[in-house]
Amino acid sequence: MAAFAFLATQCTYSQPSTKPENKKMDNSQTPKPNVYSRTDTGKLALSDDEWKKILPAEQYYIARMKGTERPWTSKFEKFDEKGTYYCAACGNALFRSDTKFESGCGWPSFYEPVSKQSILYLEDKTHGMVRTEVQCGRCEAHLGHVFNDGPPPTGLRYCINGVILDFEKARDAEKKYQKKG
Ligand SMILES: [Zn+2]
Repeated sequence: MAAFAFLATQCTYSQPSTKPENKKMDNSQTPKPNVYSRTDTGKLALSDDEWKKILPAEQYYIARMKGTERPWTSKFEKFDEKGTYYCAACGNALFRSDTKFESGCGWPSFYEPVSKQSILYLEDKTHGMVRTEVQCGRCEAHLGHVFNDGPPPTGLRYCINGVILDFEKARDAEKKYQKKG
């Protein structure tokens, strides 16, 4: 009897009666400003300090400090899934996979953005060169540069830092894969 009582006690202690899950369910208490949206096209005007609180360090470095990731380091550099590439900072649609091409430059490359409004163009005279910087049309995150040595039909090469890209697979493509399986 004594042994049984001991086991019963142990068992009771190993089962906490309630778990505090209610706090996790409440989305209204998110500490970060909610700027990421795939549907809201309203312009964002946040300070660098505000972005610093929101973005992971490597994204902040590219997007706000106009940094450049090391070539050949992006998972999107050799990546040919069908879908759409979005700004990782704000969710703005930037490029479609059917405009992506293998440029050999070490960064994900595209020949055309989703729309004229999805990208901003700025003259960049740093590093002793005159280049055209491209930024996200919604949040003005630095994305990379555009050059005139791309393939047809545009002849443009958008050389983009993969760190600042988010990818979502095309739903149609996914369905086809499921049917085949
Ligand atoms: Zn953006």
